[in-house]
Order: sequence, then C-alpha cells, then structure tokens
Amino acid sequence: MNRQLIWLRSDLRLHDNTALAAAAQRGPTVAVYLITPGQWLAHDDAPCKVDFWLRNLSKLSRALGDLNVPLLIRHAATWDQAPQALAQLCRELSIEAVHVNDEYGIHESRRDAAVASALEAGNVSFHHYLDQLLFQPGSVLTKTGTYFQVFSQFRKVCYTRLHAALPRLVETPKAQAALAVESDLIPQHISGFATPDESLRALWPAGEDEARRRLEQFADEQISDYKNERDFPAKPGTSQLSAYLAAGVISPRQCLHAALQSNQGEFESGDIGAITWINELLWREFYKHILVGYPRVSRHRAFRPETEAVPWRNAPEDLVAWQEARTGLPIIDAAMRQLLETGWMHNRLRMVVAMFLTKNLLIDWREGERFFMRHLIDGDLAANNGGWQWSSSTGTDSAPYFRIFSPLSQSEKFDGDGRFIKHWLPELSTLSKKEVHHPETAGDLFGVTDYPRPIVDLKKSRDRALAAFRSLPSGRVG
Ligand SMILES: Cc1cc2nc3c(=O)[nH]c(=O)nc-3n(C[C@H](O)[C@H](O)[C@H](O)COP(=O)(O)OP(=O)(O)OC[C@H]3O[C@@H](n4cnc5c(N)ncnc54)[C@H](O)[C@@H]3O)c2cc1C
Repeated sequence: MNRQLIWLRSDLRLHDNTALAAAAQRGPTVAVYLITPGQWLAHDDAPCKVDFWLRNLSKLSRALGDLNVPLLIRHAATWDQAPQALAQLCRELSIEAVHVNDEYGIHESRRDAAVASALEAGNVSFHHYLDQLLFQPGSVLTKTGTYFQVFSQFRKVCYTRLHAALPRLVETPKAQAALAVESDLIPQHISGFATPDESLRALWPAGEDEARRRLEQFADEQISDYKNERDFPAKPGTSQLSAYLAAGVISPRQCLHAALQSNQGEFESGDIGAITWINELLWREFYKHILVGYPRVSRHRAFRPETEAVPWRNAPEDLVAWQEARTGLPIIDAAMRQLLETGWMHNRLRMVVAMFLTKNLLIDWREGERFFMRHLIDGDLAANNGGWQWSSSTGTDSAPYFRIFSPLSQSEKFDGDGRFIKHWLPELSTLSKKEVHHPETAGDLFGVTDYPRPIVDLKKSRDRALAAFRSLPSGRVG
C-alpha cells in the first residue's frame, strides 16, 4: 500500500497546494490537522484567528471529502507532541510518506525536524515543499551570499528571478477512490480561545471561494487604484486578503498570477496599481526571508542589536490606554477600535499606532507586537515583527529613528474629513472635520463627550524619543 498523508498547517486550501498535489500524485491520500492549543497560546495566536482556522477547516473538509480525501483531526497540547501523534497515526493507517508545506520560524523548523526524524525511525518518509512563498529562503541572496537587509535590493533580485521564470500554479488533485477512513468532525470551539462575535465572523467568511472572490474582485475592479487609495483607511482601497494569505486559504502564487493577468503579465511596468500591489507581496516575502536569515527576530530580539539598549518606559497605564483605545488621540483610538472589533487594522494605521506606542509613549515594541498578535485575524510572526521593528526603528530597512510620524498630521492627511474617526468614535460625530482630529481644540463641544484628553504631549514626547535614541551607546541609529 502506498498511502500518503498530507499534514495541513497554514495551507488550508485545495487549489494550488504543493504538498497536497504531491501526495495525491504518489498515492491514495489522507489529510490530518493537529489541534495544538498550548502552542497557540504560547504563540499568542488570536482567538479570532483560531476560529478562522476552524471555520476554514470545515469548508476544506467538505471540499476534500468531494475528492474522497478524509480529513482527520488529532489533538496534541503542544508541538513537542507532534512527532508522537503523527508517528502513531502513520502506524494506524500504514502511511508510506508524509507531505507538508514549509513553515518558517524557529519553533516551526524544530518541530518539523523532530517530526521528520520520528517518522523516518518508523520507515515513513517526510517530504516538505516550498509553498507559502514565491522564492525559497536562501535562494535570494547578496553577492557575498548573505540574506538581504534592504528591501529594494531584495526586490531587484526577485524581479530578475520572476523575469527568468514565474512560479507556476500546481494542479488541483482529482477525486480518488474512496478509502475506508472516515473524516473527523471539525471542532467549532477550542477551550482557551473565546468565540468571536458573529459581526466579526461575518467580515471574514471562510473558504477558498470567498478568498478567490476577493482576489478576483480586487484584481478586476480595484487594483489600478491601489497606489492612490491604499493609504486612506475610510476607503476600501486594499485587498483585505491578509487573513486568507496567513491561513493559506489562498496562495501568493494565485495572488501574483491574478495581479499579472490584470497588467498584461508585467510586474515592473504598466499599471502602477498592480506594480505597487505586487511590491507588497514582495514585502511579505522579504520579512519571511528575514525570519529565516536572521533567526534572532524569531526570538523577539531586535534586528539591530544596538537598539536593545533603548530606555523603554515601563508605563502600564499608558499601555492599557493604548490597548483600550483611550489615548485621547482620535486617529489612534479609532484604529485600535477597528482592531478590537474586526481583528484587522488598515496598514497605514498599523504604522501610525505602532509609532505612537514606540515613540510618543516610548513603550517597548514587543508589547505592541504581542498585543497585535493576540488580536489580529491575519497575525503572522514575520509580517508583524517586521512591521513593529520597522515602526520602532529597531528593524531591517526600518523608519529612521528621527522620522517620527505625527499622529495629527497623519490623521489630517489620510482621514481628512474624519470619516474613519467618526465611524469608530461616534462620540466625536458632532465635531467639524477640523476639530475631529484633535478634539481638545473644540472648546465647549469637547465637554459634552466622554472622550478623554490626550494622555501625552506630542511635541515633548517626540523630543523624549529622539533623546532616547540619540543616547544609544553606538550613537546614531537609522
Ligand atoms: C505594525 C505592523 C504589524 C503588521 N502585522 C501584520 C501581520 O501580523 N500579518 C500580516 O499579514 N501583515 C501585517 N502587517 C502588514 C500589513 O499591514 C497587512 O498585511 C495589510 O494591512 C493587510 O491588508 P490587505 O490584505 O488589505 O493588504 P494589501 O495592501 O491588499 O496587500 C496584499 C498582501 O500583501 C501582504 N502585505 C502587505 N503589506 C505588507 C507588509 N508591510 N508586510 C508584509 N506583508 C504585507 C499581505 O499579505 C497582504 O494581504 C503589519 C504591518 C505593520 C506596520
């Protein structure tokens, strides 16, 4: 018997799934997913993200069932137990080979190495594939063979590689003969992870059909305007595909091909919207390569070691005010409410709130990174760490420490008429479009709402941040 097992992780889809296609080519295939709540808690995975995984698994189980591929669920508290759980399943089902799509990060790599050796000890082979990325980490390197630290240089090599050969979509497996193995029920809830509100769930319908619908609609109707619209949080200017990409409900290859199709196959010329969007897919790629090339970022260390000496403030009250959207700065509070209620935040605002926390409040970026991870439906170690280290000037190719966004200017520039702020802070709805950015200037009107006064003086706190970075032992950063 040449039975194959695909171990699904962050690749919850049938189409363009490299490991699934490879397994199905070799023989009758069974799928398994490991529920590992202890690991998810240790990784700060958000309850809404875990719920999204479960909802996608239910859809995927039906789609796999149509192909006679049973989807089994196994439980293991943490990844330490993965080798034993999988080895046992392989014995029970007489599995010949296990197939996985690569995941990146120190814990993920260690887990896979341990699983591979446990399986091989039982004569089961372990095959892993590039799938979550367009390019294999380690294959896009500088002339001296090191990982790139500057995005524009990394992108240049990616462009050369894309000119040489586009990553191809893999075939969707055909139905196989029915196996005498029953699919398991997918749990609807995991203890320790609160079920999100229906309103949040409704924003992120599960399944490949929804992911592909979003991609098609974005590529057909919105991509050309992406460059002009992507920075305005009140507009639906971005694809809102990140949750689907993070869970692997859609692949980066599918995204790339859709963007190329909308731009006559070009990624460097033609439609500036499509070029800009592909650029973002390459940022996603860049941060995952950084995670592999510089594993210290996976351990929550600063990419720039000298910035470990920044005198971060221990200011629990300020931190909680930021977390609970009570800073008294409308653009910050509106963005944080968007995060708390939807599990997602617009990219421009992720940068604004991250800079505010790390510069104006001078609070360690790791606090913000963890809080985001605990609430984001698209939480992804590489992108989240990259975004936080960019904003706090501790990362690779990050914002120079002296270029500190003013939340007020950002608010006026990117939410000029205050539409986004008023949506999330209805208590400010009577303010004019000028006052809404800084309600303390609204005189009497200010007194009629419960809205708090700013917790920090923007000018003084900016100077404090500049002084803190200038005081670093190695001198200037950025
Ligand atoms: C502080 C901070 C934290 C972030 N945390 C995450 C995170 O946990 N998960 C996450 O997927 N993205 C994260 N990002 C990146 C970015 O904000 C989101 O990917 C984007 O807002 C998702 O919306 P979208 O799908 O509409 O993106 P689009 O603008 O349509 O972009 C398409 C895709 O490209 C990728 N992408 C876009 N921008 C970036 C970027 N700067 N870095 C890496 N990938 C990018 C995403 O997969 C996204 O879905 C973070 C950014 C910052 C500044």
